[in-house]
Amino acid sequence: MQIKNNYDVIVVGAGTAGLMAAIAAAEYGSQVLLIEKNRRAGKKLLLTGGGRCNVTNNRPTEEVIAHIHGNGKFLYSAFSQWDNFDIMAFFEERGVALKEEDHGRVFPVTNQSKTIVEALLNYLKELGVTCIFQTKVEKICHEQQQISGVKTDKGDFLAPAVILATGGRAYTSTGSTGDGYKLAKKFGHTLTPLYPVESPLISNEKFITGKVLQGLALSDIKLTVWNDAGKAVASQDLDLLFTHFGLSGPAALRCSGFINQLLEKQKEVKVTVDCFPQKTLPELLATIIPLLDSKKTTKNALQGWLPERLLAYFLTKLNISDLPAKQLTTQQITAFLELCKAFPVMINKTFPIEKSFVTGGGIQLKEVNPKTMASKIVNGLYFAGELLDIHGFTGGYNITAAFVSGHTAGIHAAMSY
Ligand SMILES: Cc1cc2nc3c(=O)[nH]c(=O)nc-3n(C[C@H](O)[C@H](O)[C@H](O)COP(=O)(O)OP(=O)(O)OC[C@H]3O[C@@H](n4cnc5c(N)ncnc54)[C@H](O)[C@@H]3O)c2cc1C
Repeated sequence: MQIKNNYDVIVVGAGTAGLMAAIAAAEYGSQVLLIEKNRRAGKKLLLTGGGRCNVTNNRPTEEVIAHIHGNGKFLYSAFSQWDNFDIMAFFEERGVALKEEDHGRVFPVTNQSKTIVEALLNYLKELGVTCIFQTKVEKICHEQQQISGVKTDKGDFLAPAVILATGGRAYTSTGSTGDGYKLAKKFGHTLTPLYPVESPLISNEKFITGKVLQGLALSDIKLTVWNDAGKAVASQDLDLLFTHFGLSGPAALRCSGFINQLLEKQKEVKVTVDCFPQKTLPELLATIIPLLDSKKTTKNALQGWLPERLLAYFLTKLNISDLPAKQLTTQQITAFLELCKAFPVMINKTFPIEKSFVTGGGIQLKEVNPKTMASKIVNGLYFAGELLDIHGFTGGYNITAAFVSGHTAGIHAAMSY
């Protein structure tokens, strides 16, 4: 493919948002240049959904936006133009069969991320988009208040519209090293503080450092995050894993963004694990009383009530493991049930942003037009994807936010000149 110097739209970053932005602009009729610093496109997209690509989510759009808990509402206008159902139609029209799994998560039937990335690349080729790899954008050029192109380590390219889709700062090995923030700051754009989201939780609790529960997986628990004032700020009903450093698994990952926001103001954050989220304390009491009416020791009488290691830990903590079950006082029974309903774990930090799945914070949204994704500071500059101060839970929500904002930016960049 011949590489010219002059285009209608330049897209910086061939990740989730950039690939879709380039497609939308080219579908509209623009001459598009897509520039990527990696050897290949979609390095992060290929990793998602455990290498199977969690391409979007099949829940109603309102619900999808609610799961983009970091400023998802900013995307209402973008979703009204092109939404999660359009993403599914887009891939199905390109011959990619999709399937829905738990929690509305959508995957290609092949169970391979490369099916999705190849479909995007094939369509870019069909649309005549010029893609250049191993090329780093170093500067966005402008003449007065109008974008004029980009400067790269391989030369300069001209265009009246540039879409920044360089990603956040999470999982830097995929190429998202925060370049876009610096490029945008040159125009006076500002950033909200960056923090890790969808990140495992680190705890200094003795039972964690002593690896007492390491490897224990709990299904369908409720994990609740509390602030220092004793108010619940978030909770998740999902699976949890105890590790050698703290907590992981879907419930922990989903709570991490809220925890990092609290850690900006407080030294540590309390989370509690409810092992029986479907039952109230009185209901649990009613089921445990007959079990305790026994000659056995408490640990034997309650066998099977909780996963073995957790039961042993709770009973040892309360010093009631070897007491005859029948002799337990009401106070001791209540203390045990309270532990089952709200097992407290103090969290000290999460993994660093570079090792987390998603970036919290980013380009200030009040500086971006939600209908077009255009900069309100300089003409011809557009934003898409995780670079913006938008984040969601894993489960297809971030990918959807990236595809939808990318599509919106692509269309409006193409319409702008
Ligand atoms: C392991 C992992 C699993 C995940 N799983 C899920 C999941 O299951 N569901 C979900 O919704 N989300 C998931 N995510 C998050 C999701 O993948 C991202 O939010 C999304 O891909 C972000 O898209 P983006 O286009 O904004 O950024 P990216 O996909 O990171 O793309 C940015 C691109 O810009 C390029 N670039 C950067 N700077 C420059 C420059 N100066 N010049 C040229 N190119 C540049 C980068 O090399 C990169 O290719 C996961 C993330 C990780 C790390």
